[in-house]
Amino acid sequence: MTPHPSPHLMPAYARQPIAFERGEGARLWDTHGNEYLDAIAGVAVTSLGHAHPEIAAAIAEQAALLLHTSNVFRIGWQERLGERLCALAGMERAFFCNSGAEANETALKLARLHGRRAQVALPQVLVMEHSFHGRTLATLAATGNPAAHAGFEPLLPGFVRVPGNDLDAARQAAAQAPGIVAVLLETVQGEGGVRPVGADYLRGLRALCDARDWLLMVDEVQTGLGRTGQWFGYQHAGIAPDVVTLAKALGNGFPIGACLARGPAARLFSPGQHGSTFGGNPLACRVAWTVLDVMERGQLPRRAAVLGQRLLARLRERLGGHPHVVAIRGQGLMVGIELDRDCQELMGLALERERLLITVTRGATIRLLPPLVCDEAQIDDIVERLGRVLENVIEIGL
Ligand SMILES: *Cc1c(COP(=O)(O)O)cnc(C)c1O
Repeated sequence: MTPHPSPHLMPAYARQPIAFERGEGARLWDTHGNEYLDAIAGVAVTSLGHAHPEIAAAIAEQAALLLHTSNVFRIGWQERLGERLCALAGMERAFFCNSGAEANETALKLARLHGRRAQVALPQVLVMEHSFHGRTLATLAATGNPAAHAGFEPLLPGFVRVPGNDLDAARQAAAQAPGIVAVLLETVQGEGGVRPVGADYLRGLRALCDARDWLLMVDEVQTGLGRTGQWFGYQHAGIAPDVVTLAKALGNGFPIGACLARGPAARLFSPGQHGSTFGGNPLACRVAWTVLDVMERGQLPRRAAVLGQRLLARLRERLGGHPHVVAIRGQGLMVGIELDRDCQELMGLALERERLLITVTRGATIRLLPPLVCDEAQIDDIVERLGRVLENVIEIGL
């Protein structure tokens, strides 16, 4: 492999000049045989680690039986998975798709139907500054990042944006902007710099939604399925949303997304109003079923809470006094270390010098999303390697 990116791929990504060939748990090996420690899990996707034997077996067994039949027919694995996810999430019905953006598109279509039923001519969805909901045209418009919008205007209308974690701002929007029918938010803003919203804020939003007949729609694409130390991020606040979206960890790398709903929101679609060719096929649903098996058996949400405490404590010990570190925050195994300056190049440096996979969001926040199956020694190892990288930031003139 040449060190240059392929001229036959659209240059939509800033890629590191490394390719991995195989993995095992939290470890990866590149094409030269070098071993790495994975502290990002494919950006919150491979929560069970790489090459999990049960996932591999489920894929192989189902591939030999039946991959796809179409949603023209009943699909047993989809029905079973829908029931199981709804039980975990406190929801009633599921719609399956293939990605986080599609799950959010589904939620946004539900919001429009909800508005239409209430005879709102121009339904609006309340969204947050610094949010991330995907790259399709609707989810891009919902995303609170002007840099991601640039060049793709006109944006889809129907969104009212407020500062996150600010209940007064949401109440003010309710009083001023006519036609709001739903709220869409993340419980921890992932791409937005690893910013958890407060439990009081979520409870306040729930009350506001109840008072106004808005749908409370929670984007759990990154936070869901144990990542934050609960099955779903909203469970920390003890609230029940109306709509929940999932993807990333649901297939441990096999593409699958889901939109769950309860109450009237679960009954809005009628046949022909929404669909997906691949969504919820037997293979994807069996893989997700197996992911839930492994997560439940290993009590991985609780494990994420315990390991997350350890990770935060160790990071604070190791980096709390670092001259460029301004904040260390997180929930479960979703942790951010904010620096006082842009540090995008740390990703390449960590790879090269410490063989550690990290990401940097919003320019200045290092984001750690280790697999939920890693052990205590690996957590400590992540801190040790990251500590060494950051010790060098002054030397490298960051
Ligand atoms: C990753 C992400 C998405 C988009 O998911 P895709 O599968 O890339 O479409 C949406 N919302 C949140 C919170 C995410 O982290």
